[in-house]
Amino acid sequence: MTTTINMRLLYLGEISYEVRREMQRLVHRYAIMPFQFRFLHKSNKLKKSFTYKDKQNHLRRSSIVYKLTCTCVSNYVGQTRRNLATRTNEHKFDQLSEVCKHLLTNPTHRYNFKQPEILGITVGQKKRHLLESLLIQEHQPDLKVDGIIHPLTAF
Ligand SMILES: [Zn+2]
Repeated sequence: MTTTINMRLLYLGEISYEVRREMQRLVHRYAIMPFQFRFLHKSNKLKKSFTYKDKQNHLRRSSIVYKLTCTCVSNYVGQTRRNLATRTNEHKFDQLSEVCKHLLTNPTHRYNFKQPEILGITVGQKKRHLLESLLIQEHQPDLKVDGIIHPLTAF
């Protein structure tokens, strides 16, 4: 009878399959009893760690981390406690906004203001700022905001 051992591995792309293959190779070579591994990949995607709702009526949602992308692929990741439509409208006219500055410098460019991408939804200022800084690291937007809380110092 073959014993099955469940292994939970953090999913890190191709390297996870290499780890898997190597472990199976070692088991086949050295195991005294016949057993097999069953691998369960644990996703490391950020969205799984935070509440993630559907994207319908996204402009009316609040407590959001969002992404605005320009026609030139320049992009911006920001967060707002308020209604997303209110915040995206501000980006059109607020000259302190990096998005607005980009549009003033490049008047022919256009942003997806009507369909900003929702990267995450979470309640509470500290959690929202943390989520924002994690998502900025994941998405690496070229337009950055000041005052981002570093994830390691957020708690
Ligand atoms: Zn642009």
